[in-house]
Amino acid sequence: MTEKRPDRTLGPGHDEFWAWCAQGELRLQRCADCHKLLWPVMVACDACGGTELPCEQVSGRGKLVSWCSFVQDYYRGLLRLPYDTILVELAEGPLFMANPDGFGEADCARGLPVELRFLTCEDSAGTFALPVFARQAA
Ligand SMILES: [Zn+2]
Repeated sequence: MTEKRPDRTLGPGHDEFWAWCAQGELRLQRCADCHKLLWPVMVACDACGGTELPCEQVSGRGKLVSWCSFVQDYYRGLLRLPYDTILVELAEGPLFMANPDGFGEADCARGLPVELRFLTCEDSAGTFALPVFARQAA
């Protein structure tokens, strides 16, 4: 089932990110100069200013750092309320905000191991694969 979502940010760097998601891969930029793994998408490295930022696949594994449940309708009825948002510390380091897949606020705990899934969504630019996180299988 396709879920309606708010419009993504598109453009240089972002288009490449979403194209990799469409292929089932989560890829983040890594600075060719200082090797810092970057997130969110940047036009220049926030550590050294480098602009050569090739995308590198990450494992899709991480741990839950924080979470919250939104009850305010920020998107004029587009999202069903309440909806949960989680902050995942990827195994490679960057913090990644996403939605939980298959679990809710009651299941959340600091350090909960999670793994990447993709959810088929749609915005005004078309269908896309949204990275979300499920609990890691034991
Ligand atoms: Zn850099």
